[in-house]
Parts: sequence; C-alpha cells; structure tokens
Amino acid sequence: MSQGLVTASYIIAAVCFILSLAGLSKQESAKAGNWYGVAGMAIALVATIFNPEVTGLGWIILAMVIGAAIGIRLALKVEMTEMPELIAMLHSFVGLAAVFVGYNTYMDHEEMFGAMLNIHNTEVFLGVFIGAVTFTGSIVAFCKLRGLVSSKPLMLPHRHKLNLLAVVVSALLLIWFVQVEGSSFALLVMTLIALAFGWHLVASIGGADMPVVISMLNSYSGWAAAAAGFMLSNDLLIVVGALVGSSGAILSYIMCRAMNRSFVSVIAGGFGSDGAVSSGEEEDGEYTEVNAEDVAEMLKNSSSVIITPGYGMAVAQAQYPVADLVSKLRAAGVKVRFGIHPVAGRLPGHMNVLLAEAKVPYDIVLEMDEINDDFDDTDTVLVIGANDTVNPAANEDPASPIAGMPVLEVWKAQQVVVFKRSMNTGYAGVQNPLFFRENSVMLFGDAKDSVDNILKAL
Ligand code: NDP
Repeated sequence: MSQGLVTASYIIAAVCFILSLAGLSKQESAKAGNWYGVAGMAIALVATIFNPEVTGLGWIILAMVIGAAIGIRLALKVEMTEMPELIAMLHSFVGLAAVFVGYNTYMDHEEMFGAMLNIHNTEVFLGVFIGAVTFTGSIVAFCKLRGLVSSKPLMLPHRHKLNLLAVVVSALLLIWFVQVEGSSFALLVMTLIALAFGWHLVASIGGADMPVVISMLNSYSGWAAAAAGFMLSNDLLIVVGALVGSSGAILSYIMCRAMNRSFVSVIAGGFGSDGAVSSGEEEDGEYTEVNAEDVAEMLKNSSSVIITPGYGMAVAQAQYPVADLVSKLRAAGVKVRFGIHPVAGRLPGHMNVLLAEAKVPYDIVLEMDEINDDFDDTDTVLVIGANDTVNPAANEDPASPIAGMPVLEVWKAQQVVVFKRSMNTGYAGVQNPLFFRENSVMLFGDAKDSVDNILKAL
C-alpha cells in the first residue's frame, strides 16, 4: 500500500468516525452510527497494518487474533448492567498502551537535536502522564462499579493539597526531563506519581458522581490516545484521540449540569465537597406495602401513568414485561409515558437501550426535563427499580450527598408505586424519604416477577 493510499484511507476513516459520533447522538440513528464506527475502524486498521513503514506483520496479526478472540468473548458475555465496568476496563487498556508507547518511543527513536528533541521529550512525558492517570483511575472506577471497593469517597487528610502537589511536582519533573535531555529518573518518578494521582483522583469521588467519572475517563483515554498518536506520528490516532477526548469532556460537562454538580469539582477529585453523608441509611418512618393485584386495580382506575425505570429494571431484565404492560394499558386507553433520568442505571442511555430492546415506541420515552412538569397531572407513577433518581431529599435536604441533583419529581403524582426487593438504599447509599410518603406504596419483589403478576391480574 502506497503512503498516499494510507493517507487517503486515514481521511476516510476520520470522516467515518465523525459520522459515527453524529449518528450516536440520536436513538433513531444510533445503529447507523455504530456501523460508521465499525467501518472507520476497519479501514484504519487495514491502512495501518499495510502501511509500508510497518514491519513484523506476523506479530501484529497474532496479537490482533488474540485480542479479537478475548474481545469477542467478553462482548458476547457481558450483561448490559456490567457495561460501565467493561468500559472502565477498556479505558485502562488505552491508558496502559499510552504508557507503553511513551516508554517505547523514549528508548527507541531516531536521532534528534535541539527543539525537535525537546518537543519529542515533552510528548513522551505528557503521553506517559496522561496514560498512567487514565490507567489507575480506570482500574479504581472498575473496582468501584464491580463492588470490589466501597463506592464511598476516600477522604485522605489534605487530599486536595496532595493532588495539587502531584501536579506541581510532575510539572517540575517535566522541566527537568526536557532540560537534561531525557532523564530516565524524572520519567520514572513522574510515572509513579501519575499512577498514584490517577488512583487517588477517582478514589476520592463518591458513588453519586460515578457516571461523570466514567465519561471523564473516556475523555482522558481519548487524550492518552492522541498523545500516543503524537509519539507515533500517526495523524489518524491524533484525530480520533482528540474526537474521543473532546466528546468525552463535553458529555461530562452536560452530565455535571444535569446533576447540578460543578465540573471542576468532579474532575478535581471531589474538590469542594466535604463528603458528609447526612441522610444515613436508616429508615425514617412507616411505609405501606401492597401486592400485584392492588397495583393492577390502581392501574385500571388510572387514566394517566408515568413509568420511571432505574437500575433495578436492568437487574431484573423487566423491560420485556414492562413493554407488554404498556401495550396492554395503551390498548385500554390509558396515557402511558416513560420518564428517563439522565443518570438512571449504570451508564448514560442505559434505560433507553433496554426500552428500545423491548420495542417500546421512542415517542413515549421522554427525558426528565420534558416530563418533570407533568407529574402533578398524573394518576399513577410506577417507579420500577429506581431509587436515587427519584429521591426528594435531593431537592429538600441541603445536607444530603445528592443535594441539588435534579430528580424526577414522582411524589407530585396522585399515587406512586415503588418496585424493589427490600428497603435497601440505591447506589449513592442514601435512604429515600419517598418510600414513607402518604401517597407512596411499596411493591416488594423482583421487578420482573412483580410486573408479570400485575399482567396476570389485569
Ligand atoms: P439506584 O441504584 O439508585 O437504585 C436501584 C434500585 O433498584 C434499588 O432501590 C434496588 O433496591 C432496586 N433493585 C435492584 N435490583 C432489583 C430487582 N431485581 N428488582 C426490583 N428492584 C431492584 O438506581 P437509579 O437508576 O435510580 O440511580 C442510578 C444511580 O447509579 C445513581 O446514583 C447514579 O449516580 C449511579 N450511577 C449511574 C451511572 C450512569 O452513568 N447512569 C454510572 C454509575 C453509577 P433493592 O436492592 O431493595 O431491590
């Protein structure tokens, strides 16, 4: 393959990636967006492998076969609820790859002098720094999501000063690294600092901010890939890395706004929060329990129903009976809609994917902002496996860890049915006063079984 053809392929691949991002921004075009991404990646891989400068084709193909086999197995096996963990793991690979590329180009590069050498050394240093932060940060995110470590924020004394110190020392080491023309000591010490910094940055972020952390690590992994692109002089990697880095940063910013969190506070490892948990996990009041027949009766007497799904619907795989319930109610003339919180579930868009899978029509699936004013005029709300995203404490208790986060105001409806298995808390670890309100009732049990039983009773 000639160099000209490689460049042309890279341009086509870059256009595919841009079309992919555009497609993924809407549910209707998301599938096409995925295909553009697949096509772009296939073109990029073929062009890179058959680039005349590339040697050792046998090794590359062997590595690809092993990687593809592991990737296919993981992708087939992974449950939708485990997706964020998989994403966090994949981000850690990008970070580790950037560290390896950095060390490789540090040890083995063509002879350079003066400004060129300084630029090269700066690229290596920054690439390793971003890669190492992404690597350990993603591992901690994986462990938190998997439940291997607590989702509560780690509160080391002077933690913000420690973060600042890590950045300042790394900046000084960069100057040293460039001035003494590639001191291996400076590079090694910075790598250790960056690994610890990435670990601490994510460890000090609480469970409620995890969605933003995932998209922020997505952004870091993009910048790590772009840094690797500079080191390898690969234009496509620079373009793709910048696309991922900037789209991840924009998504993090949008999510922070949706959760009323300060973007700077979250990316600086919970800066500005004292991590206080005022609403403990204790129950506060009496709740009313109902059974599936009672709920069926409530639904028969309702003319408008809103369903607010959450992580529990994904765990129970209740989306299919929920879709049947919706069809049945709509056939009986009931106005049924869904209210989707931007961080419901364990990754952005989690609920939309599940409902699309169960063939729920897109036009009755509304975003939180589109539906929040309608709860007042709603007869019945079914809260199916959601907790933090419908917690009134976010609006009413300024000391709550989720204070200020916009939530679905389900308690304003005539009656609310909460589907869950126990009185346990949600992901953020705070109790929900909704369960003890006069217009709320609890339907205990696995969400899928509960919806199946309601269907039978209807
Ligand atoms: P929550 O985690 O707050 O609550 C889930 C609820 O589902 C719990 O009340 C649980 O109660 C119930 N549940 C679990 N399994 C079942 C089951 N089989 N049947 C019935 N109920 C079940 O979920 P939300 O979706 O409301 O909130 C999302 C939370 O996750 C937020 O705190 C968000 O910040 C965080 N998060 C979001 C991410 C994102 O990108 N969207 C990423 C990471 C975290 P019980 O155990 O009693 O059944």
